[in-house]
Amino acid sequence: MRLSLLGSTVLGLSLIGSQVQAKEVAERHHASVLMYHHISAETPRSTSTDAETFTRHLDLLDQLGFQVWSLPQVAEYLKANKPLPDKVAVLTFDDAYISVYDTAMPIMSARKLPFTIFVNATPINQGNKLYMSWGQLREAKANGATIGNHSLHHEHMIRHQKGESEAQWLDRMRAEITENQWQLEKHLGALSETKLFAYPYGEFNPALESLLADLGYIAFGQQSGAASPFTSLQAAPRYAANGAYSDPDSLKTKLLALPFPVRSETPRSGVLAPDKRSPVLTLTLEKGDYRLDQLRCYGPAGEVLQVTSEDQADGAVKLQIATEKTLPAGRHRYNCTAPHISEPRWFWFSRQWMLPEPDGRWYKG
Ligand SMILES: [Zn+2]
Repeated sequence: MRLSLLGSTVLGLSLIGSQVQAKEVAERHHASVLMYHHISAETPRSTSTDAETFTRHLDLLDQLGFQVWSLPQVAEYLKANKPLPDKVAVLTFDDAYISVYDTAMPIMSARKLPFTIFVNATPINQGNKLYMSWGQLREAKANGATIGNHSLHHEHMIRHQKGESEAQWLDRMRAEITENQWQLEKHLGALSETKLFAYPYGEFNPALESLLADLGYIAFGQQSGAASPFTSLQAAPRYAANGAYSDPDSLKTKLLALPFPVRSETPRSGVLAPDKRSPVLTLTLEKGDYRLDQLRCYGPAGEVLQVTSEDQADGAVKLQIATEKTLPAGRHRYNCTAPHISEPRWFWFSRQWMLPEPDGRWYKG
């Protein structure tokens, strides 16, 4: 059936008190992890946030009553399934660009805010001037920065090299992670006890999630949403806060958003076969405080996606989310939102797809 208001939702909430309470607590075990790259007006706009806008973001966190926590602290809470207070935010910076040291760090230090830098060792070892040096990273660490792992070569980790078997690919990926960690520790000393990883380009698949879990990492993608128990700890979402996503008004909506109580997602992998150009996402949501009648999902061009819903016997709802379009090769996202039944805030979910060209070749960048 087409999505319609399920009249039983609100009534149902009052009937199964303890179960609902557990779920409500779970929805609130969340933190809004923000992702930045450059803090500069001189660098490519799509991955940059200028200093003035960045300062406005920090002011916004203050005005909304957010606490800024370190990423290891949030990761510990998520790992232990310990309830986080409402309104926890985390600041993360990918790639260790020089503007993080020159511009962002003094602003954050003045406010005594913790932050995380995800580093790939290769450009640092090469002395690339766009990036921080090992000395600057040591200084950042002494100034409240957590250093996370961003792989050794910043490759598209889901891609196999020509003729590479699954086992050879997995070995290469293990080396990308462990050799980078070794480099970080060699140059910067001991890192946080909870090992942290960010996938380059936010590209991952279930095999990489398992590998990172085996190696003891909590890992973050680039699909938007609040980090919560509703995603795997090796596929945690972050909100991009740079480029087109740096507008403080839209950031405010995201900061306040709650995670949808996702029970299951199909397909498990966001990596699509070349012939799957109109992917269908199936989500099963636990009952929650979201207005199902106002749930909307949007495709990569902002188009409204078709959503059909099917009630489950236990009160959950199964959603099928589909596009009428044929997607071009590239990274794409489906985003779903619904308003809270009584509070002025939204629920949020995002899935990233990675779609090769029809002949199987990968897109550039
Ligand atoms: Zn990166």
